[in-house]
Amino acid sequence: MRLADPTVDQIRRTAGDCGSLDLLHERALGCVACPELVAERRRVVPGEFPAGARLLLVGEAPGAQEDETGRPFVGKGGQLLDRLLEEAGLERASMAVANTLKCRPPANRTPTRAEMHRCNGWLERQVELADPRLVVTLGGTALSWALGTGHRLGDVRGRVHAWRGRSLLPTYHPSAALRFGPNGAPMAALSDDLRLAAVSLAGMV
Ligand code: URA
Repeated sequence: MRLADPTVDQIRRTAGDCGSLDLLHERALGCVACPELVAERRRVVPGEFPAGARLLLVGEAPGAQEDETGRPFVGKGGQLLDRLLEEAGLERASMAVANTLKCRPPANRTPTRAEMHRCNGWLERQVELADPRLVVTLGGTALSWALGTGHRLGDVRGRVHAWRGRSLLPTYHPSAALRFGPNGAPMAALSDDLRLAAVSLAGMV
């Protein structure tokens, strides 16, 4: 039997006690829950939450450039995301952007379940405090954060789902779109899904 990880509850309580995103981000900057990530990170990347953002994009975890700058999605994937958002009529500066992990995993490996479990308290409270109408998850890791494991991205993407009193639109991660190239299926799907996000958001009160 595995012992419960006490840091999961500690983070949930610390995040739950934060009455504002600014305070939460300050607390998250000091998080030392995952020793392997703490040892190698340069910066914690809490995410960006412009006041009144109605759409929240959730990615996997910071990469090298995010780790260096402290900002989410500023590397190649982020640049592609910015372009596709603009083409869809969405302005990156007016939307919230966060990740399932706030720290870069060494060599950009996939987050472990234990890391996601610990870091979850920060993201859940960010969702509560920011209160977005629509959450767009990018890639499989963010999908499993939102819906749990066992869902195939191809089966659930491209549709808006009712989710915890909000709307959820799962789509591909920009790195998948980059990997398969400009004519690959993930690029077309990501582009279509961001357009759907824009249309859906416009119809939401
Ligand atoms: N990939 C992610 O999932 N998030 C980032 O912030 C950057 C790259």
